[in-house]
Amino acid sequence: MLWRGGRQSSNIEDRRGMRVGTGLVGGGLGGLILLLISLYFGVDPSAIFNRGTAVDVSGPASTSPADQETKDFVATLVGYTEDTWSDLFQRSGQTYRAPKLVLFNGAVESACGFAQAAMGPFYCPDDERVYLDMSFFQELRDRFHAPGDFAQAYVIAHEVGHHVQKLLSIADQVERIQGRASKSEGNRASVRLELQADCFAGVWANHTERMQQSQMKGFLESGDVDEALRAATMIGDDRLQMQSRGYVVPESFTHGTAEQRSGWFKKGLDSGMVSDCNTFETGTP
Ligand SMILES: [Zn+2]
Repeated sequence: MLWRGGRQSSNIEDRRGMRVGTGLVGGGLGGLILLLISLYFGVDPSAIFNRGTAVDVSGPASTSPADQETKDFVATLVGYTEDTWSDLFQRSGQTYRAPKLVLFNGAVESACGFAQAAMGPFYCPDDERVYLDMSFFQELRDRFHAPGDFAQAYVIAHEVGHHVQKLLSIADQVERIQGRASKSEGNRASVRLELQADCFAGVWANHTERMQQSQMKGFLESGDVDEALRAATMIGDDRLQMQSRGYVVPESFTHGTAEQRSGWFKKGLDSGMVSDCNTFETGTP
């Protein structure tokens, strides 16, 4: 991915080095459940958040050159999502309100509650922020065997996709469905929401590439798309469940299978049309 020299977003909140109240962190069953559930790019996982209060106990984290590089990468990526989604919203007569991205270490307090890095990156609709512990990128590479900068770009684009769902009031509708549905119906709605965020990430990649090309710049390099598809595949519910339990329980899927996730990303990437991301209207996503 050619990202150096791109505009960096100013919507980055660096909360690394801030600690949250330790009385609430990692204790007993709560902590165990958090680790077991590990959300992998969930949206508003408030059901399993503990409540805590942020306490600033130290100054900003000392930043290594590698961390600074990753932060620059993230800020540039967020900048790309702002440019692309602003343009797409404008074309349909709407205004894009950009989310903020919060960088944190270990644990963080969001408007959706307290979260730990082990849960993976997430989007909180209540404060319109994406939360990211950059160490997740190492996990993506080492634990999920999905290396590459475009695998990381996909993660951020997916989370921003959840923000787009909020702006389009799609997330609200799903919440209403989940409020009156059975557990497995609720899970199916969650899968559709997640797959749509994957598709939106693909739409974003399509348009960002086009916008960069129109300015005589490249963006995607060969192998990039494969990196994203690989990441989407490696974090499929079926694959994760097989790895952790040795069997899969489709009713408990909340994000979609490896095939579905990579398939919907590809669909968005190929078509570039938000309207092609209607995961709610297909019989099976
Ligand atoms: Zn998600």
